[in-house]
Amino acid sequence: MDRKLASIQKIEAIKPIPDADKIEMARVLGWECVVEKGKYKSGDLVIYFEVDSLIPRVFWSEFLFKNTDKQEYRLRTMTFRGQISQGLIVPFSILDEILHENLKDEAIHFERNIGTDVSALLKIKKYEPVIPAVISGEAVGLLPSYIPKTDEMRIQSFPDVLKEIDGEEVYITTKLDGTSMTTYFFEGHFGVCSRNLELKENARNTLWNIVKDYNLKEKLCSLTGCFAIQGEAVGPGIAKNHLNLKKHGWFVFSVFNIKEGIYLDYLSLIKFCRDLELPTVPVEEITIAKDWSVEQLLERAKGLYEGTTHQKEGIVLRPVLEKYSQTLKGRMSFKVINNDYLLSTGN
Ligand code: ATP
Ligand code: MN
Repeated sequence: MDRKLASIQKIEAIKPIPDADKIEMARVLGWECVVEKGKYKSGDLVIYFEVDSLIPRVFWSEFLFKNTDKQEYRLRTMTFRGQISQGLIVPFSILDEILHENLKDEAIHFERNIGTDVSALLKIKKYEPVIPAVISGEAVGLLPSYIPKTDEMRIQSFPDVLKEIDGEEVYITTKLDGTSMTTYFFEGHFGVCSRNLELKENARNTLWNIVKDYNLKEKLCSLTGCFAIQGEAVGPGIAKNHLNLKKHGWFVFSVFNIKEGIYLDYLSLIKFCRDLELPTVPVEEITIAKDWSVEQLLERAKGLYEGTTHQKEGIVLRPVLEKYSQTLKGRMSFKVINNDYLLSTGN
């Protein structure tokens, strides 16, 4: 599911910030966002923009561009008087002004319901970090359509999943901040893919070098059945190498049975990786999800990468037995990003 960067949402609660007289905290979904004091009340419909939104400089966003000639503003995690603030809230009324302008040109069909995605209407783009050339390399095509793209939804955008997994056994893995790498074997063909592309074999490409280091081609082709193995490639030259690795590594987080179209459950995943001598992402804990709140999970996601002084990116949670999520409209799996990581890395 693509992220709704800008959407119609309801203010769930307003809370004071100690020692602040001009600002207060508003909650939208599972997000906390600082707003001007007295401007909104609980229950108001607003437009909410998530972090990573690139906001264009237009009449309603002009206040973001004081003392600069920039034309785009990137929303990042911030703190005001010790209160974390993620995203941006603007009054619902700006939608009417924009619709009024647009309707002169063409009719726009759009529902004024909570959850409606207004990113396209407001011309909101997503900030994407640049992928280094050693990884991107030359593409031979897209990630095959029969392999799911690796992605994780943020708990703050889908707090209802906590009701869905309540009482279930879940496993929590460490989120490694490298780059997504999928290898697969299907219909006699072995392939290596980055997040979106299949990559041409090349000795200068880091992902292909990982294939050699781990003997992935031999291992995958020797299996009965066709699998896509998805993991995080980490190490020098990838992201900021926050794990402080001296050489590249690849840590599996999903195994997908291509012919059956299903992911392996936790125990099968562990066994599969043990048999093929492949490392998995660190499993921090297996536990029962019971009355969890977004706040609790945000605390749980904090901490450093073991043996380093770097904030870890966060955690990923999944039920031990794979299941479909109505809320996520797909695999039940989500991430909780460590806010200290976001603040320390400027995200
Ligand atoms: P966003 O959707 O929040 O804008 P994004 O789509 O770039 O961000 P990430 O924040 O990078 O996604 O989170 C998803 C990615 O996290 C997966 O594609 C995978 O490559 C990576 N990842 C790292 N560690 C894990 C893990 N333990 N479990 C699952 N995925 C992981
Ligand atoms: Mn994503």
